[in-house]
Amino acid sequence: MTLNTTKSQEIFAAAQNLMPGGVSSPVRAFKSVGGQPIVFDRVNGAYIWDVDGNKYIDYVGTWGPAICGHAHPEVISALQAALDKGTSFGAPCVLENVLAEMVIDAVPSIEMVRFVNSGTEACMAVLRLMRAFTGREKVIKFEGCYHGHADMFLVKAGSGVATLGLPDSPGVPKSATSGTLTAPYNDLEAVKALFDQNPDEIAGVILEPVVGNAGFIPPDAGFLEGLREITQENGALLVFDEVMTGFRIAYGGAQEKFGITPDLTTMGKVIGGGLPVGAYGGRRDIMSMIAPAGPVYQAGTLSGNPLAMTAGIKTLELLRKPGNFEYLEKITKKLSDGLLKIAQETGHQACGGSISAMFGLFFTAGPVHNYEDAKKSDTAKFGRFHRGMLERGIYLAPSQFEAGFTSLSHTEEDIEATLAAARDVMSNL
Ligand SMILES: *Cc1c(COP(=O)(O)O)cnc(C)c1O
Repeated sequence: MTLNTTKSQEIFAAAQNLMPGGVSSPVRAFKSVGGQPIVFDRVNGAYIWDVDGNKYIDYVGTWGPAICGHAHPEVISALQAALDKGTSFGAPCVLENVLAEMVIDAVPSIEMVRFVNSGTEACMAVLRLMRAFTGREKVIKFEGCYHGHADMFLVKAGSGVATLGLPDSPGVPKSATSGTLTAPYNDLEAVKALFDQNPDEIAGVILEPVVGNAGFIPPDAGFLEGLREITQENGALLVFDEVMTGFRIAYGGAQEKFGITPDLTTMGKVIGGGLPVGAYGGRRDIMSMIAPAGPVYQAGTLSGNPLAMTAGIKTLELLRKPGNFEYLEKITKKLSDGLLKIAQETGHQACGGSISAMFGLFFTAGPVHNYEDAKKSDTAKFGRFHRGMLERGIYLAPSQFEAGFTSLSHTEEDIEATLAAARDVMSNL
């Protein structure tokens, strides 16, 4: 099968002279799957159209935000109305209160929230706050988890770092990461050992409560509970990075789904409904340390701007309607179960699963409990699978090490069409 992507190729060729690698974020490149990125023209509902006029069913959803479907008419008209009042105030606006209240109502552990412009910013700020509150400098993260591109998190990171096989990044000073300790995901013993080796020095543990940046890896039974106990015993903070899982694994995020209450939470993606928003929040006593209420400095010219707040508010209003998460769970499980069954019937070793609107498929027998397990996947096979699906009008994240996303716009028919394409591709892999 061939896909006519002449215009995409021309635009991307020009982009490569203008921007490093031709992209504004490395995960958009097709480095690990071969071929060239598709240049989009427009998005709507569950679909995207490229500049050559090809239509695809989209399972990237702009990397998470599009949980109500792309360009939802109610989000677009709310934005058009907001636009008439201006794009940025740089001063308080009531929309911040509205979204803050929605976040506090939705997410069990959050008593106060600060808005920023990206997940990266939220994670940077939360780390400073963890250190300030505890008076300790070290922090534990997990191999394959991604917490944005700030220096101190670029140690055994997931997402593009994993896809491109970059273990760490040049330009990150040793001093910035000397306090970053790492453990394999789902390994409580490793975490206990780090606490034993660094008594009274660890500010806290930060993790993706369901991993999406090393492919889709759910927490083993007892893992999140164990982390809650270990951190409490050691006077350290537990931080859920829910930039991906927030408002996706459940309306109240993974913490609602699993019933574990972290001290602090970071958010992004869905909370901005496709505009740049990040947030961090948690216990009132900790959040009260943020300037100007307290001494921990963190600021942002465009933070809480009315357009971004509007897209977030409208998206959450649409999302919280009854039945939505049941629907997301149902179609995503249908997709995930279908993919596994097809892989088995066509003779491919594969494992994977889904929770709510997040799913993953690894080309390895599994089970996958951590990044080491994920790395056993046949990435060359994934590349061929990705290409075959693309040619049949299915847009998947261009990496074995990224989770897939569904939305309220995906229909049963979309899922069936996707499975039919997968059967076709896997039969000839
Ligand atoms: C995407 C992501 C980030 C970074 O968010 P950006 O908005 O891309 O800066 C941080 N943590 C997790 C878990 C993410 O999925």
